[in-house]
Amino acid sequence: MTSTADLTPHGNYADYVTGAPVADTAAPDGPIAERWDRRRFEAKLVNPANRRKHTIIVVGTGLAGGAAGATLAEQGYHVEQFCYQDSPRRAHSIAAQGGINAAKNYRNDGDSVHRLFYDTVKGGDFRARESNVHRLAQISVEIIDQCVAQGVPFAREYGGLLDTRSFGGVQVSRTFYARGQTGQQLLLGAYQALSRQIAAGSVAMHPRTEMLDVIVVDGRARGIVARDLITGKIDTYFADAVVLATGGYGNVFYLSTNAMNSNATAVWRAHRRGAYFANPCFT
Ligand SMILES: Cc1cc2nc3c(=O)[nH]c(=O)nc-3n(C[C@H](O)[C@H](O)[C@H](O)COP(=O)(O)OP(=O)(O)OC[C@H]3O[C@@H](n4cnc5c(N)ncnc54)[C@H](O)[C@@H]3O)c2cc1C
Repeated sequence: MTSTADLTPHGNYADYVTGAPVADTAAPDGPIAERWDRRRFEAKLVNPANRRKHTIIVVGTGLAGGAAGATLAEQGYHVEQFCYQDSPRRAHSIAAQGGINAAKNYRNDGDSVHRLFYDTVKGGDFRARESNVHRLAQISVEIIDQCVAQGVPFAREYGGLLDTRSFGGVQVSRTFYARGQTGQQLLLGAYQALSRQIAAGSVAMHPRTEMLDVIVVDGRARGIVARDLITGKIDTYFADAVVLATGGYGNVFYLSTNAMNSNATAVWRAHRRGAYFANPCFT
């Protein structure tokens, strides 16, 4: 057990309690196809000159956390980023193989945002959260361009155009891939973008550091407690917002292709602090 006297605070909590923008993270309502566009339009923007006054904690450096940290830092925020591996590029995203689905309709075989939405909801046995799936289908189109700009070497046809294949039993060819190592190539792209921000001083990277708990103030996550896995030292970190991008939790099952550390501990700790937890059958 560690007493609170042993905890070293990074930053002063009082610096973060006023003036921070509040993100509305609840799912928006209205017609499914318009929900997230409307939310994005109605969200209060933060003046670019003010962004550097705000710190955001990102836990995780996989495709979710790596991309989030790099993007937030590129926009001007200060990011404190954490992972338990020795390098951000060892996150378990590296294991993904088959490819990434996007409704680009390059093949003109009848694909659309709505069809990708429908196939994904159906593939999830009609149990997925539909407005989130629709958003995923919408932004799939932009994700491919972003990855290509980051240098991800997607497979190409002889003429140089991006290649696609049919994947997961669907009737259209919409999966963009890089041989059998799409996750590794995507993670290298995200890692490069993150490394650029680390070198620029916008991201402070904390590898080999495990989040132990979430600090909640007035119902909002405002910091984390973390342990240095080399020295065992436990520290606290404060921020205006906390992003948990800590991956899947396959190892709640006896057999899983996830790494042993993909074990749900971060998600569980957030749940104990009041975060909602749903659909653990989806891994
Ligand atoms: C074998 C395999 C094949 C796959 N193939 C595909 C595919 O073809 N197409 C597809 O779309 N998806 C595929 N997936 C799924 C996809 O790879 C994952 O859903 C995705 O990569 C998860 O990314 P992530 O950033 O959420 O998590 P991860 O990449 O797992 O990253 C989690 C991060 O959180 C950090 N972390 C976790 N807990 C803590 C903690 N307590 N403290 C500090 N840091 C913590 C870790 O250090 C890590 O950096 C596949 C998955 C596997 C295993």
